Amino acid sequence: MKLGLHISIAGSLMLAVERARKRNCETIQIFAGNPRNWDRWDPDKHDAAGFRAACAQYGISPVVVHAPYLVNLGAPDEKIYARSKGAIANALRVCDIIGSPYYVVHTGSSVASSKSDGMRRVGVALAELIASDGSGVTILLENMAGAGSSLGVTFEELAEIIEIAGGGARLGICFDTCHAFAAGYDLATKTGVENTLRALDKTLGMARVGLIHANDSKYPLGTAHDRHAAIGEGYIGNAGFDYLLNHPLLTGKPVILETPRQTVADDLKNISILREIKATA
Ligand SMILES: [Zn+2]
Ligand SMILES: [Zn+2]
Repeated sequence: MKLGLHISIAGSLMLAVERARKRNCETIQIFAGNPRNWDRWDPDKHDAAGFRAACAQYGISPVVVHAPYLVNLGAPDEKIYARSKGAIANALRVCDIIGSPYYVVHTGSSVASSKSDGMRRVGVALAELIASDGSGVTILLENMAGAGSSLGVTFEELAEIIEIAGGGARLGICFDTCHAFAAGYDLATKTGVENTLRALDKTLGMARVGLIHANDSKYPLGTAHDRHAAIGEGYIGNAGFDYLLNHPLLTGKPVILETPRQTVADDLKNISILREIKATA
């Protein structure tokens, strides 16, 4: 099981490799550009070949790209919907160039429209995006915490979206532990972990799960708050992560931490806790 962190590419892609090495990452997630605006990030202006070579040299794999926060394929607003599709089409090209097999997208929100309309929009957009893109990059839909009109909160909703999108092999899941816990899937106890992973396997199939986001939760089970906590400092706790990371259904899945941090030491602490949990199994 490869462990890594969300890493900043501020400055250059090569600096991201340095940051990853400093933090003992075997896999990384990045934003390709500023996640809070619509600016297109141009991979041709960066040393993508050098980045790929460095990742290969230091065994950093997979490299995963996370979509910007503004992307919403469930948006009833045509302008936002079109912009979201454009941003993802560009990002799939970026993934291809920098050697990323996975693109993580938040499933989105139906805003003022119905949930079923929202899910239809997401599914149709995903089908279009995959049909018009030759990269082979897999789009991983991230389960949401359940606030407001968010889509893809339950495993059933994610399965429905994937079905509308055609159910192809380029559609997968990024399983975020904090979001699942917030949505009411217990991950703090052995029984909870067992039930949650069985449900995930039954509804979506573990083969669809390309990535795990390991984040503890600042709020209790089922409260729909997307607030990540450091490993062991939230309501999932070290025991929950022990059951999770050592569960046979998650064998071989890459794990990315998106835990709060002030310093490099915070990152190292979170990653070393997970390594210890894996080692002592
Ligand atoms: Zn995310
Ligand atoms: Zn996440």
